[in-house]
Amino acid sequence: MDKDYFSHLSPEERGILKNKGTEAAFSGVYNDFFEVGIFVCRACENPLYESNTKFNSDCGWPSFDDEIIDSIKKYEDLSGGSVRAEICCAKCDGHLGHVFEGEQITTKNTRHCVNSLSIKFVSHSNLEIAAFGAGCFWSVEKIFKSVKGVYMVQVGYMGGDTLNPTYNDICRGDTNHAEVLQIAFNPEIISYSDLLKVFWQNHNPTTLNRQGPDMGTQYRSVIFYYSELQKRQAEQSKQEAQTNFTAPIVTQIVASSIFYRAEEYHQDYLEKNNLGNCSL
Ligand SMILES: [Zn+2]
Repeated sequence: MDKDYFSHLSPEERGILKNKGTEAAFSGVYNDFFEVGIFVCRACENPLYESNTKFNSDCGWPSFDDEIIDSIKKYEDLSGGSVRAEICCAKCDGHLGHVFEGEQITTKNTRHCVNSLSIKFVSHSNLEIAAFGAGCFWSVEKIFKSVKGVYMVQVGYMGGDTLNPTYNDICRGDTNHAEVLQIAFNPEIISYSDLLKVFWQNHNPTTLNRQGPDMGTQYRSVIFYYSELQKRQAEQSKQEAQTNFTAPIVTQIVASSIFYRAEEYHQDYLEKNNLGNCSL
């Protein structure tokens, strides 16, 4: 007899994983959740999804556009009056949800719609977080995503006063939030100091509240540090970078605050829209 992977689960978890139920939309703990780690099967702990494949589809359930290789099995599901592709854990066969193609939300054009109760989050404890503001976040996101050792880049807003800001709030220019990148990186592959070099090389840190045609405090050059060590390294790096500029560097170095993830259409913006670069 197969190992019983389901007996330790709560009735609610078993109702989904074993009996193929569905949790209520927007009820799950991982619906609006973008920490850095891995999602494993709640029944058997099989690794299923990396957090850098998670996105916000506004459907009410956690959404991923790719699975960890060989972790998922797919079945045709004729319940509900249409043909859907059911997804189950490849190790324990526990029900996860359904997968949909062709919705054009991310470039992979796939949405694994997964119950929060089917999965469990385990953080990547070997990664560090950095946050930078360097003008419009679209092009700098693409640059940092291509850096070896960078696991995940999200664009969003930080440093201002407005709670849960929207892009429209940011565009007004009076929230004091900056457009930022939050970067999860492996310090064994790329150091924070080397990330700072990428930061200095890819924007103009001498123009106050301005990058090219973009003007306003939301476009300011800023380093949000997550530790005293990051703060010291940022200050030293700023001094070293100054030798490459005739005008004084105006970049702020301030403590990090709440990161508000930007709307999904801003994530991977250039890639989604087939754009090479911003016209700076
Ligand atoms: Zn499983």
